[in-house]
Amino acid sequence: MTDPILFKDIDEPGLRTLEVYRRRGGYDMVSKALAMTRDELVHDLEISGLRGRGGAGFSMGKKASFLPKTTMDKYLVCNADESEPGTFKDRELMTKLPHMLIEGIIIAAHAAGANRAFIYIRGEYQEVADILDAALVEARDAGYLDNLPLVVHRGAGAYICGEETGLLDSLEGKRGNPRLKPPFPANQGLYQGPTLINNVETLMTVPHIVRMGGESYAKIGAANSTGTKVVSVSGNVQRPGNYEIELGIASRELIYGLAGGPPEGREILFWFPGGSSSPVLTKDELDVPYDFDSMAKAGSMIGSGAIIIVDDSNSVVDVALKLASFYRHESCGKCTPCREGTNWTVKVLERIQSGLGTPMDLDIMASVQDRIIGNCLCVLGDSMAMPIGSMIEKFRPQFEEYMESRREVAA
Ligand code: SF4
Repeated sequence: MTDPILFKDIDEPGLRTLEVYRRRGGYDMVSKALAMTRDELVHDLEISGLRGRGGAGFSMGKKASFLPKTTMDKYLVCNADESEPGTFKDRELMTKLPHMLIEGIIIAAHAAGANRAFIYIRGEYQEVADILDAALVEARDAGYLDNLPLVVHRGAGAYICGEETGLLDSLEGKRGNPRLKPPFPANQGLYQGPTLINNVETLMTVPHIVRMGGESYAKIGAANSTGTKVVSVSGNVQRPGNYEIELGIASRELIYGLAGGPPEGREILFWFPGGSSSPVLTKDELDVPYDFDSMAKAGSMIGSGAIIIVDDSNSVVDVALKLASFYRHESCGKCTPCREGTNWTVKVLERIQSGLGTPMDLDIMASVQDRIIGNCLCVLGDSMAMPIGSMIEKFRPQFEEYMESRREVAA
């Protein structure tokens, strides 16, 4: 496995200060990147193969290339909302390496031709926002931000504000409702201007690509999934935490080797490979390589890079109900399949939990998920329907067994 890139020296005391960060070579890549033309920089990012680390996995270089070369104001927005349950990597990265994020933003803004930048951070991350603000003061005083006004903006806390267009509305001071796409943010984003939106981890990787060169970076990881990825592992594991891995390693190595596997005497029932919105995989699918394409082939996704382990002390029905209740609460209500579908799913699961469920309920619930997928304005509807659909498909006998046992209790 390759050496860590972002996590190298991450626990060094004082690394979050400008002095120590600079001693470690911090901000050295700014002058190198600014000496490159926009096209050269975008080309380097494209050949690096870096894909967005926030969930969608779109090519970062390509995204930057979409911004028009006009003289109008262009924006760079760092998505630090990190609202996907199970994901907590960006919080650690920003807490320990705020200057690396600022350095990445300065370079990415040059690649996109952006002249203003924002870090949109979730409201609950007050402490992290304070750390970023302190780092911004240092970076401004040192002159790194002379040509790029950069501010930290705290959201009010909503899952949907992690969706890029909901985030833009929120940043503009409106309610965070997703927008219809197209137009895409690259053409009409913040204040209707061309906007590049990237996740924290994606932007923090940019200075390292400039340092190594895109071609060398592309040699790390797997085909079409280059580089390293910080993965948050949580749930029923012995050593939960963030791990930086080379993309393409076996998921088993990550879950058992690094995170210690489930507690003694327990077995994995199922696991979410990419946050709570990813279709679940079973214990027979632990050897799937942890990369974008292998996960897609296995019917799931690495999403934001958050593995949640559920062991056999849990019931699939309880987990499904918790998950559906979360998405019902977070639905903005704008489109019917999501607003009604999340509500229906919760009601059916509550009926099953109360002992009044029938096998027909499973068919109803599966068909509700089918009707949500692909029919919503944004990803939230799918975020519930995909994992719930996969649970019904893979664990039908456990659902039926549960219903039977609850019926006996209720009788
Ligand atoms: Fe709102 Fe849900 Fe529709 Fe997204 S999918 S726009 S959250 S109702």
